[in-house]
Amino acid sequence: MTGAADETAAAARLVYEEASAFLAGLDERPVLPAGVDEAADRFGGPLPEEGAGAVAALEELLGGLDAATASPGPRFFHFVTGGVTPAALGADWLTTALDQNAFSQVASPLGTRLERVAVDWLKELFALPAEWGGALSTGATTANLMGLAAARQWWGERHGRDVGAEGLAGLPAMPVLSSGFVHASALKALAVLGIGRETVQTFSRDAAGRIDLPALEAALRGLGGAPAVVVGNAGEVNAGEFDPIDALADLAEEHGVWLHVDGAFGLFARLSPRSAPLVAGVERAHSVIADGHKWLNVPYDCGFAFVRDPDLLAKVFGLAAAYLPSEEPEPTYGYLTPELSQRARSLAVWATLRAWGRAGYRALVERHLDLAQRLAARVDEAEDLERLADVPLNIVCFRYRPPGVPEDELDALNARLGADLLADGRVYVGTTTFEGRTAFRPAIVNWRTQEEDVDLVAAVVRELGAPLLARTK
Ligand SMILES: *Cc1c(COP(=O)(O)O)cnc(C)c1O
Repeated sequence: MTGAADETAAAARLVYEEASAFLAGLDERPVLPAGVDEAADRFGGPLPEEGAGAVAALEELLGGLDAATASPGPRFFHFVTGGVTPAALGADWLTTALDQNAFSQVASPLGTRLERVAVDWLKELFALPAEWGGALSTGATTANLMGLAAARQWWGERHGRDVGAEGLAGLPAMPVLSSGFVHASALKALAVLGIGRETVQTFSRDAAGRIDLPALEAALRGLGGAPAVVVGNAGEVNAGEFDPIDALADLAEEHGVWLHVDGAFGLFARLSPRSAPLVAGVERAHSVIADGHKWLNVPYDCGFAFVRDPDLLAKVFGLAAAYLPSEEPEPTYGYLTPELSQRARSLAVWATLRAWGRAGYRALVERHLDLAQRLAARVDEAEDLERLADVPLNIVCFRYRPPGVPEDELDALNARLGADLLADGRVYVGTTTFEGRTAFRPAIVNWRTQEEDVDLVAAVVRELGAPLLARTK
């Protein structure tokens, strides 16, 4: 072997061994280990003048693993955070070793073919029309960008304008309507697209942001037939609730507007007949997106965008240069997505779907539905916990509410408890504001999560709450 081959093999072996130990320890490891700051502080200083070599550099890196959270483990309930399945892990490591540029067929027949198959399989998994186009992305934010870029292109064409070619100058503001569930990343996408995040009109009937359908319909009628975009939300982050997608699809049809559905995690409700009614009608939308690094449990970063008319993506994200391929038999993903060069994310998606199949993913979703109901029951039976919302899917919205604490002290108490919970590190749960109240919102999407893990959420919140309460009295 050459020196380069030796060094590469030694680097890969070292990481394989240490990463395997990390993964094997996930069940016991606290989500936030002790000594995070010390571990992170190992890194820094000026750029080294002399190189240490691959193995020494990696040993130094591995020495700081305590600065990592156990986010692929079973008790990371913050945000909406998946883990990495065994097949996805292997395929993702292979992706790095093969280092394919999946932007085009000529650069990587493997990456391009697997992406087309992965997109086709995902459409089957989510029961979306086979004739739709789609592509992998870096996450739901980028997928929202892609879906809304397609919507903007369509909207421009309705005004006789090719926005991809000519831009927005001189056009009116693009009307965007949604409920209070609209995700911040959709607003970010609209900011990037030159539509503006404050352009969105939200129609809510209550403080949770649930849709006011008659008001939205009246606004559409007020547009007098002008083209517009409706953003439907399939799975909002506070309590896992849904906009009525079927009703939005009816309105979109009636008023001739574009329906974009953000199903970052909620689209996975399609996988079980128990939850599929929540997202009925999504196949009638014009663009639909979901995340890979959430409920599919592939590693960061991965999302999906599905578009009824993929030519619209090409009109925004297409490009041409003399040195680049023009027509290819497979889709040229670098011309359908924001990046040109791109990681072959399809390997992990393909491998995990091949490993578990439709039945495996359906079983995963159903197990998580059960776990969410179990946690809801733990909350309901505890006299010092209060559930704030129904649990239609996989998020349980609740707060600490010991008897006798006045309402106006509960937000501060729950905020302090939220900080203590993260510092404690046994379970990781984020807080939010739900209907004006500070609340916990554990989200269950990790394939490793078991009953004892969700039981621990309720137990640790109560355990940490008690001394906090005693101190404030
Ligand atoms: C997580 C999430 C997003 C953003 O996804 P990223 O993968 O973080 O970019 C968008 N919409 C919803 C509903 C989400 O839950």
